Amino acid sequence: MSDEPIQAGDLHKRYGNVEAMAGIDLTVPAGTVLALLGPNGAGKTTAVHILTTLVRPDSGWARVAGHDVVREAASVRATIGLAGQLAAVDDFLTGRENLEQIGQLYHLGRRASRQRASELLETMDLADAAHRTARTFSGGMRRRLDLAASLVGRPPVLFLDEPTTGLDPQGRIALWDVIRRLVDDGTTVLLTTQYLEEADRLADQIVMMHLGRVISRGTADELKSAYGGDRLELRLADPSDSARAAGAVATLGTGQAQTDADAGVVTLPVDDGAAALPAVVRHLDGAQVKLSGVLLRRPSLDDVFLALTGSSPDTTADAKRHVPAEAG
Ligand code: ATP
Repeated sequence: MSDEPIQAGDLHKRYGNVEAMAGIDLTVPAGTVLALLGPNGAGKTTAVHILTTLVRPDSGWARVAGHDVVREAASVRATIGLAGQLAAVDDFLTGRENLEQIGQLYHLGRRASRQRASELLETMDLADAAHRTARTFSGGMRRRLDLAASLVGRPPVLFLDEPTTGLDPQGRIALWDVIRRLVDDGTTVLLTTQYLEEADRLADQIVMMHLGRVISRGTADELKSAYGGDRLELRLADPSDSARAAGAVATLGTGQAQTDADAGVVTLPVDDGAAALPAVVRHLDGAQVKLSGVLLRRPSLDDVFLALTGSSPDTTADAKRHVPAEAG
Protein backbone atom coordinates (compact mmCIF):
# COMPACT_ATOMS: atom_id res chain seq x y z
CA MET A 1 0.00 0.00 0.00
CA SER A 2 1.36 3.46 -0.86
CA ASP A 3 2.12 5.84 1.96
CA GLU A 4 0.00 8.83 0.99
CA PRO A 5 -0.91 10.64 4.26
CA ILE A 6 -4.63 10.55 3.51
CA GLN A 7 -6.27 7.68 1.64
CA ALA A 8 -9.85 6.50 1.60
CA GLY A 9 -11.81 4.01 -0.44
CA ASP A 10 -15.52 3.51 -1.00
CA LEU A 11 -16.61 5.36 2.14
CA HIS A 12 -20.30 5.14 2.96
CA LYS A 13 -22.23 6.87 5.73
CA ARG A 14 -25.96 7.11 6.18
CA TYR A 15 -27.90 9.11 8.77
CA GLY A 16 -31.40 7.65 8.88
CA ASN A 17 -32.57 7.94 5.31
CA VAL A 18 -29.95 10.58 4.42
CA GLU A 19 -27.07 9.22 2.40
CA ALA A 20 -24.34 11.59 3.59
CA MET A 21 -21.53 9.64 1.94
CA ALA A 22 -22.22 7.32 -0.97
CA GLY A 23 -18.90 5.75 -1.93
CA ILE A 24 -16.10 8.29 -1.72
CA ASP A 25 -12.47 7.63 -2.74
CA LEU A 26 -9.75 10.10 -1.80
CA THR A 27 -5.96 10.28 -1.95
CA VAL A 28 -3.91 13.24 -0.75
CA PRO A 29 -0.16 13.11 -1.48
CA ALA A 30 2.26 14.45 1.16
CA GLY A 31 2.75 18.19 1.23
CA THR A 32 -0.27 18.96 -0.94
CA VAL A 33 -3.73 20.43 -0.42
CA LEU A 34 -6.91 18.68 -1.40
CA ALA A 35 -10.11 20.74 -1.32
CA LEU A 36 -13.51 19.12 -0.95
CA LEU A 37 -15.75 21.60 -2.68
CA GLY A 38 -19.52 21.53 -2.60
CA PRO A 39 -22.70 23.23 -1.40
CA ASN A 40 -24.31 22.83 2.02
CA GLY A 41 -25.16 19.23 2.70
CA ALA A 42 -22.81 17.77 0.06
CA GLY A 43 -21.14 15.55 2.65
CA LYS A 44 -17.91 17.47 3.14
CA THR A 45 -18.06 17.65 6.92
CA THR A 46 -19.03 13.99 7.11
CA ALA A 47 -15.86 13.15 5.16
CA VAL A 48 -13.76 15.21 7.58
CA HIS A 49 -15.49 13.62 10.57
CA ILE A 50 -14.75 10.14 9.27
CA LEU A 51 -11.12 10.94 8.46
CA THR A 52 -10.58 12.54 11.87
CA THR A 53 -12.21 9.57 13.69
CA LEU A 54 -15.14 11.61 15.03
CA VAL A 55 -17.60 9.44 13.08
CA ARG A 56 -17.33 5.82 11.98
CA PRO A 57 -18.04 4.98 8.36
CA ASP A 58 -20.76 2.41 7.70
CA SER A 59 -18.44 0.75 5.20
CA GLY A 60 -15.28 1.45 3.25
CA TRP A 61 -11.87 2.25 4.67
CA ALA A 62 -9.62 5.19 5.36
CA ARG A 63 -6.02 5.56 6.49
CA VAL A 64 -4.51 8.76 7.81
CA ALA A 65 -0.75 9.02 8.35
CA GLY A 66 -0.60 5.26 7.93
CA HIS A 67 -3.24 4.47 10.56
CA ASP A 68 -6.68 2.99 10.04
CA VAL A 69 -9.32 5.52 11.15
CA VAL A 70 -11.47 2.88 12.84
CA ARG A 71 -9.02 0.33 14.25
CA GLU A 72 -6.25 2.81 15.10
CA ALA A 73 -8.30 5.88 15.91
CA ALA A 74 -6.11 6.98 18.83
CA SER A 75 -2.99 6.94 16.63
CA VAL A 76 -4.79 8.96 13.98
CA ARG A 77 -5.89 11.52 16.56
CA ALA A 78 -2.33 11.83 17.89
CA THR A 79 -1.06 12.68 14.40
CA ILE A 80 -3.57 15.14 13.01
CA GLY A 81 -4.75 18.69 13.53
CA LEU A 82 -8.37 19.70 13.05
CA ALA A 83 -9.72 23.22 12.80
CA GLY A 84 -13.28 23.71 11.89
CA GLN A 85 -16.59 25.41 11.95
CA LEU A 86 -16.94 24.85 15.67
CA ALA A 87 -13.96 26.77 16.93
CA ALA A 88 -12.06 24.92 19.66
CA VAL A 89 -11.48 28.17 21.46
CA ASP A 90 -12.21 28.83 25.13
CA ASP A 91 -13.84 32.26 25.28
CA PHE A 92 -12.75 32.90 28.85
CA LEU A 93 -9.05 32.30 28.28
CA THR A 94 -6.70 34.72 26.58
CA GLY A 95 -5.24 33.91 23.19
CA ARG A 96 -1.99 32.85 24.82
CA GLU A 97 -3.68 30.79 27.54
CA ASN A 98 -5.73 28.93 24.95
CA LEU A 99 -2.58 27.81 23.17
CA GLU A 100 -0.51 27.10 26.28
CA GLN A 101 -3.29 24.93 27.65
CA ILE A 102 -3.24 22.82 24.51
CA GLY A 103 0.56 22.59 24.70
CA GLN A 104 0.19 21.11 28.15
CA LEU A 105 -2.39 18.62 26.89
CA TYR A 106 0.30 17.56 24.43
CA HIS A 107 2.71 17.19 27.40
CA LEU A 108 5.04 19.75 25.90
CA GLY A 109 5.95 21.09 29.34
CA ARG A 110 5.39 24.64 30.53
CA ARG A 111 8.39 26.26 28.88
CA ALA A 112 7.95 24.57 25.50
CA SER A 113 4.20 25.31 25.60
CA ARG A 114 4.93 28.98 26.18
CA GLN A 115 7.42 29.04 23.35
CA ARG A 116 5.12 27.25 20.94
CA ALA A 117 2.28 29.63 21.87
CA SER A 118 4.52 32.63 21.17
CA GLU A 119 5.54 31.25 17.78
CA LEU A 120 1.95 30.57 16.76
CA LEU A 121 0.65 33.91 18.01
CA GLU A 122 3.31 35.54 15.87
CA THR A 123 2.55 33.41 12.80
CA MET A 124 -1.16 34.06 13.09
CA ASP A 125 -0.67 37.78 13.58
CA LEU A 126 -2.22 37.57 17.03
CA ALA A 127 0.76 38.67 19.12
CA ASP A 128 -0.86 42.02 19.94
CA ALA A 129 -4.03 40.30 21.14
CA ALA A 130 -2.28 37.53 23.08
CA HIS A 131 -3.41 38.89 26.43
CA ARG A 132 -7.03 39.56 25.52
CA THR A 133 -9.72 37.01 26.30
CA ALA A 134 -10.88 35.20 23.19
CA ARG A 135 -14.45 36.44 23.57
CA THR A 136 -13.22 39.92 22.61
CA PHE A 137 -11.77 38.57 19.34
CA SER A 138 -13.27 39.26 15.94
CA GLY A 139 -14.47 36.33 13.80
CA GLY A 140 -11.23 36.35 11.82
CA MET A 141 -9.09 36.40 14.97
CA ARG A 142 -11.04 33.46 16.40
CA ARG A 143 -10.49 31.49 13.22
CA ARG A 144 -6.77 32.21 13.38
CA LEU A 145 -6.65 31.21 17.03
CA ASP A 146 -8.58 28.04 16.24
CA LEU A 147 -6.10 27.22 13.48
CA ALA A 148 -3.20 28.00 15.83
CA ALA A 149 -4.72 25.62 18.39
CA SER A 150 -4.78 22.84 15.80
CA LEU A 151 -1.08 23.45 15.06
CA VAL A 152 0.32 23.30 18.58
CA GLY A 153 1.35 19.66 18.18
CA ARG A 154 2.94 20.33 14.75
CA PRO A 155 0.64 17.88 13.00
CA PRO A 156 1.93 16.57 9.66
CA VAL A 157 -1.69 16.16 8.50
CA LEU A 158 -4.20 18.96 8.92
CA PHE A 159 -7.97 19.00 8.37
CA LEU A 160 -9.69 22.35 7.91
CA ASP A 161 -13.47 22.35 7.80
CA GLU A 162 -14.60 25.52 6.01
CA PRO A 163 -11.74 27.50 7.53
CA THR A 164 -12.77 30.88 6.12
CA THR A 165 -16.57 30.77 6.13
CA GLY A 166 -17.86 34.05 7.50
CA LEU A 167 -14.57 35.91 7.15
CA ASP A 168 -14.24 39.17 5.26
CA PRO A 169 -12.04 39.11 2.14
CA GLN A 170 -9.02 40.45 4.01
CA GLY A 171 -9.32 37.83 6.76
CA ARG A 172 -9.74 35.14 4.16
CA ILE A 173 -6.60 36.15 2.27
CA ALA A 174 -4.60 36.30 5.51
CA LEU A 175 -5.68 32.78 6.43
CA TRP A 176 -4.89 31.49 2.93
CA ASP A 177 -1.33 32.83 3.33
CA VAL A 178 -0.91 30.97 6.61
CA ILE A 179 -2.24 27.73 5.14
CA ARG A 180 -0.02 28.04 2.06
CA ARG A 181 3.05 28.52 4.26
CA LEU A 182 2.19 25.41 6.28
CA VAL A 183 1.96 23.40 3.07
CA ASP A 184 5.23 24.84 1.80
CA ASP A 185 6.77 23.52 5.01
CA GLY A 186 5.48 20.01 4.23
CA THR A 187 2.08 19.80 5.94
CA THR A 188 -0.57 17.78 4.13
CA VAL A 189 -3.95 19.52 4.16
CA LEU A 190 -7.49 18.44 3.45
CA LEU A 191 -9.90 21.34 3.55
CA THR A 192 -13.57 21.74 2.84
CA THR A 193 -14.99 24.84 1.26
CA GLN A 194 -17.96 26.28 -0.54
CA TYR A 195 -15.77 28.85 -2.28
CA LEU A 196 -14.38 28.09 -5.70
CA GLU A 197 -11.86 30.88 -5.26
CA GLU A 198 -10.56 29.31 -2.06
CA ALA A 199 -10.09 25.94 -3.73
CA ASP A 200 -8.52 27.73 -6.66
CA ARG A 201 -5.99 29.60 -4.53
CA LEU A 202 -5.03 26.78 -2.19
CA ALA A 203 -5.71 23.37 -3.63
CA ASP A 204 -3.46 21.15 -5.68
CA GLN A 205 -6.47 18.90 -6.26
CA ILE A 206 -10.18 19.70 -6.02
CA VAL A 207 -12.82 17.07 -5.37
CA MET A 208 -16.28 18.40 -6.10
CA MET A 209 -19.02 16.77 -4.04
CA HIS A 210 -22.76 16.69 -4.38
CA LEU A 211 -25.27 14.63 -2.39
CA GLY A 212 -22.58 12.45 -0.85
CA ARG A 213 -20.89 11.66 -4.18
CA VAL A 214 -17.83 12.87 -6.05
CA ILE A 215 -19.10 14.56 -9.19
CA SER A 216 -15.77 15.79 -10.50
CA ARG A 217 -12.13 15.99 -9.55
CA GLY A 218 -8.99 17.61 -10.90
CA THR A 219 -6.84 20.69 -10.59
CA ALA A 220 -8.52 24.10 -10.62
CA ASP A 221 -7.38 24.58 -14.20
CA GLU A 222 -8.78 21.23 -15.27
CA LEU A 223 -12.16 21.97 -13.67
CA LYS A 224 -12.29 25.41 -15.20
CA SER A 225 -11.38 24.34 -18.68
CA ALA A 226 -13.84 21.45 -18.53
CA TYR A 227 -16.72 23.49 -17.14
CA GLY A 228 -15.47 27.04 -17.24
CA GLY A 229 -14.48 29.57 -19.84
CA ASP A 230 -16.07 33.00 -19.37
CA ARG A 231 -19.62 33.96 -18.60
CA LEU A 232 -21.38 36.79 -20.43
CA GLU A 233 -24.20 38.18 -18.32
CA LEU A 234 -26.58 39.95 -20.67
CA ARG A 235 -28.91 42.37 -18.89
CA LEU A 236 -31.97 43.07 -20.97
CA ALA A 237 -33.75 46.41 -21.12
CA ASP A 238 -37.05 44.50 -21.15
CA PRO A 239 -37.15 41.27 -19.06
CA SER A 240 -39.96 39.88 -21.20
CA ASP A 241 -37.38 39.52 -24.01
CA SER A 242 -35.50 36.83 -22.02
CA ALA A 243 -36.59 33.78 -24.02
CA ARG A 244 -36.03 35.55 -27.36
CA ALA A 245 -32.58 36.72 -26.25
CA ALA A 246 -31.58 33.23 -25.10
CA GLY A 247 -32.71 31.85 -28.46
CA ALA A 248 -30.80 34.52 -30.39
CA VAL A 249 -27.46 33.73 -28.73
CA ALA A 250 -27.96 29.97 -28.35
CA THR A 251 -25.48 29.00 -31.07
CA LEU A 252 -22.75 31.32 -29.80
CA GLY A 253 -22.12 29.72 -26.41
CA THR A 254 -20.11 26.68 -25.32
CA GLY A 255 -23.15 25.46 -23.40
CA GLN A 256 -26.76 26.30 -22.76
CA ALA A 257 -27.68 29.88 -21.88
CA GLN A 258 -29.28 30.27 -18.43
CA THR A 259 -32.24 32.60 -18.20
CA ASP A 260 -33.48 34.55 -15.21
CA ALA A 261 -36.70 35.90 -16.69
CA ASP A 262 -37.67 37.88 -13.58
CA ALA A 263 -34.41 39.78 -13.50
CA GLY A 264 -34.15 39.91 -17.29
CA VAL A 265 -30.67 38.36 -17.31
CA VAL A 266 -29.38 35.78 -19.77
CA THR A 267 -26.04 34.16 -18.88
CA LEU A 268 -24.08 32.60 -21.71
CA PRO A 269 -21.01 30.37 -21.22
CA VAL A 270 -18.31 31.21 -23.78
CA ASP A 271 -14.62 30.37 -24.20
CA ASP A 272 -13.43 33.94 -24.48
CA GLY A 273 -15.88 36.64 -23.46
CA ALA A 274 -14.17 39.58 -25.16
CA ALA A 275 -13.94 37.69 -28.45
CA ALA A 276 -17.55 36.50 -28.29
CA LEU A 277 -19.11 39.82 -27.34
CA PRO A 278 -19.39 41.49 -30.80
CA ALA A 279 -21.26 38.52 -32.30
CA VAL A 280 -23.52 38.30 -29.25
CA VAL A 281 -24.44 41.97 -29.57
CA ARG A 282 -25.05 41.57 -33.34
CA HIS A 283 -27.34 38.58 -32.82
CA LEU A 284 -29.33 40.39 -30.13
CA ASP A 285 -29.59 43.40 -32.39
CA GLY A 286 -30.85 41.17 -35.19
CA ALA A 287 -33.51 39.79 -32.84
CA GLN A 288 -34.39 43.36 -31.78
CA VAL A 289 -33.48 42.73 -28.18
CA LYS A 290 -32.20 45.80 -26.34
CA LEU A 291 -29.47 45.47 -23.71
CA SER A 292 -29.21 47.59 -20.59
CA GLY A 293 -25.78 46.18 -19.72
CA VAL A 294 -23.26 43.39 -20.19
CA LEU A 295 -21.02 41.83 -17.56
CA LEU A 296 -18.06 39.63 -18.40
CA ARG A 297 -16.98 37.35 -15.56
CA ARG A 298 -15.17 34.15 -14.70
CA PRO A 299 -17.32 31.16 -13.73
CA SER A 300 -18.46 30.99 -10.14
CA LEU A 301 -18.90 27.83 -8.11
CA ASP A 302 -22.54 28.05 -9.08
CA ASP A 303 -21.66 27.98 -12.78
CA VAL A 304 -19.39 24.96 -12.43
CA PHE A 305 -21.95 23.23 -10.27
CA LEU A 306 -24.69 24.06 -12.72
CA ALA A 307 -22.66 22.63 -15.59
CA LEU A 308 -22.14 19.42 -13.63
CA THR A 309 -25.58 18.84 -12.16
CA GLY A 310 -27.94 20.88 -14.31
CA SER A 311 -29.26 22.77 -11.31
CA SER A 312 -28.17 25.33 -8.79
CA PRO A 313 -26.69 24.37 -5.40
CA ASP A 314 -29.49 26.25 -3.65
CA THR A 315 -32.16 23.96 -5.00
CA THR A 316 -30.25 20.70 -4.94
CA ALA A 317 -28.61 20.43 -1.55
CA ASP A 318 -30.55 18.90 1.33
CA ALA A 319 -33.90 19.06 -0.45
CA LYS A 320 -33.02 16.39 -2.99
CA ARG A 321 -30.88 14.08 -0.93
CA HIS A 322 -33.55 12.21 0.99
CA VAL A 323 -33.66 8.71 -0.45
CA PRO A 324 -36.18 6.03 0.50
CA ALA A 325 -35.00 4.24 3.66
CA GLU A 326 -35.06 0.87 1.94
CA ALA A 327 -32.75 2.00 -0.90
CA GLY A 328 -29.25 0.71 -0.14
P1 ATP B 1 -22.10 22.15 5.12
O1 ATP B 1 -21.35 22.94 4.10
O2 ATP B 1 -23.46 22.67 5.37
O3 ATP B 1 -21.30 21.89 6.36
P2 ATP B 1 -21.51 19.48 4.22
O4 ATP B 1 -21.15 19.32 2.78
O5 ATP B 1 -20.38 19.51 5.17
O6 ATP B 1 -22.41 20.72 4.41
P3 ATP B 1 -22.50 17.32 5.84
O7 ATP B 1 -22.49 18.16 7.08
O8 ATP B 1 -21.46 16.29 5.69
O9 ATP B 1 -22.47 18.27 4.56
O10 ATP B 1 -23.94 16.67 5.71
C1 ATP B 1 -24.30 15.77 4.70
C2 ATP B 1 -25.72 15.35 4.94
O11 ATP B 1 -25.79 14.52 6.08
C3 ATP B 1 -26.67 16.51 5.19
O12 ATP B 1 -27.91 16.20 4.58
C4 ATP B 1 -26.81 16.53 6.68
O13 ATP B 1 -28.08 17.03 7.04
C5 ATP B 1 -26.69 15.05 7.03
N1 ATP B 1 -26.08 14.86 8.36
C6 ATP B 1 -24.82 15.18 8.72
N2 ATP B 1 -24.60 14.84 10.01
C7 ATP B 1 -25.76 14.31 10.48
C8 ATP B 1 -26.17 13.77 11.74
N3 ATP B 1 -25.34 13.70 12.78
N4 ATP B 1 -27.43 13.31 11.83
C9 ATP B 1 -28.28 13.35 10.78
N5 ATP B 1 -27.95 13.84 9.57
C10 ATP B 1 -26.71 14.32 9.41
